[in-house]
Amino acid sequence: MSGALEHEVEKWLETNWDRVKGCEAGKDTYDQKSWLTKVVDAGYAVPTWPEKWFGRGLSPKDAGIIEKAFQAHGAQGWGRDRFHLGAITIFKLGSDELKTELLYELLTGPICCLLYSEPGAGSDLAGIRTRAVKDGDDFIINGQKVWTSNAVEAEYGMLLTRTDIDVPKHQGITFFIFPMKQDGVEVRPINQITGEDEFNEVFITDARVPERFIIGEYNQGWKSFQTAIASERLIMGQGITSRLRGAAGKVPALLALAHKHDKLKNPALRQEIAQALAYRQLNSLNMLRAKEEMVKNGSSSLASLGKLAMSRIQHGEAALSAKILGPNVLIRDTEDARNANFDAAKAYMNSIGGGTDQIQKNIIAERVLGLPKSTDVSRDIPFKEVKSGS
Ligand SMILES: Cc1cc2nc3c(=O)[nH]c(=O)nc-3n(C[C@H](O)[C@H](O)[C@H](O)COP(=O)(O)OP(=O)(O)OC[C@H]3O[C@@H](n4cnc5c(N)ncnc54)[C@H](O)[C@@H]3O)c2cc1C
Repeated sequence: MSGALEHEVEKWLETNWDRVKGCEAGKDTYDQKSWLTKVVDAGYAVPTWPEKWFGRGLSPKDAGIIEKAFQAHGAQGWGRDRFHLGAITIFKLGSDELKTELLYELLTGPICCLLYSEPGAGSDLAGIRTRAVKDGDDFIINGQKVWTSNAVEAEYGMLLTRTDIDVPKHQGITFFIFPMKQDGVEVRPINQITGEDEFNEVFITDARVPERFIIGEYNQGWKSFQTAIASERLIMGQGITSRLRGAAGKVPALLALAHKHDKLKNPALRQEIAQALAYRQLNSLNMLRAKEEMVKNGSSSLASLGKLAMSRIQHGEAALSAKILGPNVLIRDTEDARNANFDAAKAYMNSIGGGTDQIQKNIIAERVLGLPKSTDVSRDIPFKEVKSGS
């Protein structure tokens, strides 16, 4: 299978992707919708999924062959995991009706943001207060979300809501796929230390979502959410893009940087670069284990290990880039210095977004090492009795 698949995907990419122009063959610019539709129709977007749901029923190992070929051609489409989170979650938990209605659309284009965190609920996410109240075939949503990445562009959001205040906080939560482009959804960008404004505040006032857009079961949203967040942590464990290194995982770029700045003769630096390379390699092996576990069991606590490790790796590599550049990283306005500073600030995304490092440590302690759960005085009382900051 492997050899035949390799040949097939190579041929397909050569015919359909123009690696010089970085777009679909026969076009002059990258048209995301058109290209993604082609990738999905060929079964290359989610190759481990069954054919019925736009995959090829391949093993993760064979899916890796497709991933590698796409990477080698610089072709988009395979690695949209983060933006695929909505599709991944609906594939795993949605009813067949919901899959039929939304899966193809979600795979071929729109960004799906994550409407989880609120001003009063971050690490303790089960404390969310955004309300969903049933009204005919719809639910009416009121509340505020914060730190919502890509909310401006997003056409859908995965929305955690409170649907019952008479039960303890982990119960009484319902998870929706929520249409963002409607009256009653106001998105306000937040400026970040990196200079980007990728994340936002989202104010939701009397917006609507159909009942059939519930992901999983009514009032059982916390359970569904565990699947979504495990997929997110797995993705973050595999690394986000670094400006200095280009695509995630290209540590040898640190070598190139050291070479460019004539630092490769320094044995201590060489050793640190080798160590950074080893950490990445080790983490990618752990993430392969996590992926296998996810395919087998639907979730994996190892994903938290990878996310935590990736946070250390990214901070470490950013510090190493600064070391290679020396004082120039502070005083010279070169592209390398700008990129190294950007990477140093961006590394915090991995240590906070998707659950902080401290929370990953709690999860690893409890679910991987089997240590006792930490105390939570509000865990077993009805949500309406939980004290809030306001
Ligand atoms: C770049 C970026 C992108 C993000 N994108 C999104 C997004 O798209 N959608 C979304 O919903 N959210 C998003 N977030 C929000 C992120 O998930 C939260 O910031 C995070 O979960 C922490 O919540 P908080 O900010 O409320 O901090 P808090 O929960 O108030 O935590 C403050 C500090 O206390 C520590 N702490 C809290 N509880 C415990 C505990 N039990 N044990 C040990 N330490 C603890 C934390 O580790 C942290 O250091 C994003 C954040 C960042 C930085």
